[in-house]
Amino acid sequence: MRFIIKNNLLIPATIQEDSLPISKLSSIPQPPLHPTFSYNPDLQQLLTGKQLLPEDIPFPFEEIQSHYENGCITYRSGIYYEGKKPVCARCGNKEAHWFAAYPCSRCGETCLYCRHCIMMGRISACTALIGWSGPVPDTKLPATIKHWQGTLSKGQQVASDHVTTAILHNQEHLVWAVCGAGKTEVLFAGIEAALAAKKRICIATPRTDVVLELTPRLKSAFPEIKIVSLYGGSKDRHVYAPLTIATTHQLLRFYQAFDAIILDEVDAFPYTVEESLQYAAIQARKPSSAMIYLTATPNQKWQRECRTGKRAFTTIPARFHRHPLPVPKFEWCGNWQKQLQKNKLPANVLRWIAERIYANKQALVFFPHIPLMEKALLILRQLDTSVEAVHAEDPDRKEKVLRMRAKEIPLLLTTTILERGVTFPNIDVAVVGAEDAVFSESALVQIAGRAGRSKDYPEGVVTYFHYGKTEEMIRAKKQIVSMNREGIKRELLDK
Ligand SMILES: [Zn+2]
Ligand SMILES: [Zn+2]
Repeated sequence: MRFIIKNNLLIPATIQEDSLPISKLSSIPQPPLHPTFSYNPDLQQLLTGKQLLPEDIPFPFEEIQSHYENGCITYRSGIYYEGKKPVCARCGNKEAHWFAAYPCSRCGETCLYCRHCIMMGRISACTALIGWSGPVPDTKLPATIKHWQGTLSKGQQVASDHVTTAILHNQEHLVWAVCGAGKTEVLFAGIEAALAAKKRICIATPRTDVVLELTPRLKSAFPEIKIVSLYGGSKDRHVYAPLTIATTHQLLRFYQAFDAIILDEVDAFPYTVEESLQYAAIQARKPSSAMIYLTATPNQKWQRECRTGKRAFTTIPARFHRHPLPVPKFEWCGNWQKQLQKNKLPANVLRWIAERIYANKQALVFFPHIPLMEKALLILRQLDTSVEAVHAEDPDRKEKVLRMRAKEIPLLLTTTILERGVTFPNIDVAVVGAEDAVFSESALVQIAGRAGRSKDYPEGVVTYFHYGKTEEMIRAKKQIVSMNREGIKRELLDK
């Protein structure tokens, strides 16, 4: 779109000499809030804390413009310039190769647009990002905010108290909780305190699966609070709520929205590799707000910051059932890739698997690459025809996980796709080729964390078969051992 500035107001204009695309205006005037203006409450609900494109807003532009002129709506340029370099205001992209130009019918010029966040709608040099600066929707609080009545373990209680304090004081805090510690319950007291203080709060996670799993749990803990659940294709897009559960991608549509963001699984793909998602999480926070990070496996840099006192954190070193984490064993298995090329598995790997099949003990076996896993599958089906394999592109992935849970599959081969987020009650876990680069410290800790989850079967064997130990393997084991040690010291373990 093109605008002219008249009487210190932006006025939409057609192509005429003195009108400009929004990114070329030297400044964007913001009219003061008109106290008696009767704003549209639907627009208020839709836009509070957001940054949307005009085409995302199902209201006539004249109405948007009149809200702007009365101080209820803000316009920001979708693309701005640092010197001569374009920057996308929504995703933070500054890389020249992620911008492209096209003949734009809206501004009549050759218009630059951001290719990096195009899946959320096109941001170009003439795009206005539209936000809200009018009164904030009022949320009525029920007499009882939190209905969840479970008890926390000693370790969870300490973390819960720290989370609550951080949320109320707009601080950053990391909760480093081992796999199976029960980290969701740790959030409930903090969420309750935030809601009681009329704070707007968001739980964000890189993975849609986690949004879908968390939503019903939060809804049953806070049944009288409006909760929206946002992921690609969700229906809640236009709703305002005090509590939002969203994928980190969806945060790209928010701007200075939240008094507290709880970022779950900060170590998970794609959050770790996509800078735009980290940018999105930062710009979705209010300038003064709290940030709570949850992870079982912080990266090296964060671990160092914790050790040296540069990062506020709380560990939950023990699982809810008070049994220690299974410690991985390392077993050298020679050149397993070469063996598989000859349609053979290393003898110790085959023995490990066969023992479990004969003993009816379910197991997950991780492989670094699909083709070699497929070769292993053919070999293992000679032991038992119901052995299966899964990977990210497998259309039957969900069904196989369910069949594994129903104990219809004795042994499931998998890539790192099942490293997190799945729970089977009583399994052993092996990694074949643990030296491969895909098995980072964090992946290996998560994989080991699949074993011994249930209180009925708190033990499980974890074996890393390798052709040469790596630093990552050693660090993963060290992390698990030191968590167990801390669990004993803090009397969070029974033995
Ligand atoms: Zn344009
Ligand atoms: Zn962008």
